[in-house]
Amino acid sequence: MKTIGLIGGMSWESTVTYYQTINREMNNRLGNLHSAKIILHSLDFDEIAKQQSSGDWMAMANTLLTAAKKLQHAGADCVLICTNTMHKVADNVANGIEIPLIHIADCTAKQLQLAGTSKVGLLGTKFTMQQEFYKGRLTKRHHINVVTPNEVQMEEVHRIIYQELCKGEISETSKQRYLTVIDELQQQGAQGVILGCTEIGLLIKQKDVDIPLYDTASIHGLAAVDFALSDKSVLS
Ligand code: GLU
Repeated sequence: MKTIGLIGGMSWESTVTYYQTINREMNNRLGNLHSAKIILHSLDFDEIAKQQSSGDWMAMANTLLTAAKKLQHAGADCVLICTNTMHKVADNVANGIEIPLIHIADCTAKQLQLAGTSKVGLLGTKFTMQQEFYKGRLTKRHHINVVTPNEVQMEEVHRIIYQELCKGEISETSKQRYLTVIDELQQQGAQGVILGCTEIGLLIKQKDVDIPLYDTASIHGLAAVDFALSDKSVLS
């Protein structure tokens, strides 16, 4: 079994999901008392969130690259950045290490393609919903048609992530707001919805809606288990 390196803490609420998903899946597959070999490097999200607001992506790229190098040095065989938004600096990290970086959008696109979904709704931070590094990657690299909420809804989806979900606050009002947005994405022709922020799965569950949900925290965690149990040391 290979060792999974996690850069977490963004926020730690969703790093819990990764830790649980990866260990449960490893145990499902191997049985007995098996669990995953994980090295976790957890950051202080307050520092990151302030740099996101001020747009200091170079500082964040350096912080994440330093963390990835430490994971590599400590014996990790791969690195996961446990947040969609911070994949904005994924190339800076991947290019600075010798072990593979498992990219959250690529794993998610693979699941969409397996399900035959060609048009999908995307929920996440404004960075994720609007920018090339994520939305653009899905459309250009993976040829998936992406629909996003309108501007007012986008603000609200973004606000709830930072002001509630990243602090572990789960509110019924916010859940209803998200459900309304999901409904509108479905009306725009989405065949599924990407929960493109690793905390949204704490608020919205598959049983709440009848459209297929693609929870990026779970998908990403499961991809890490696939890698850890494969013979490959590089990503295909
Ligand atoms: N965890 C979130 C995401 O998946 C948001 C927090 C962050 O900005 O990293 O995008």
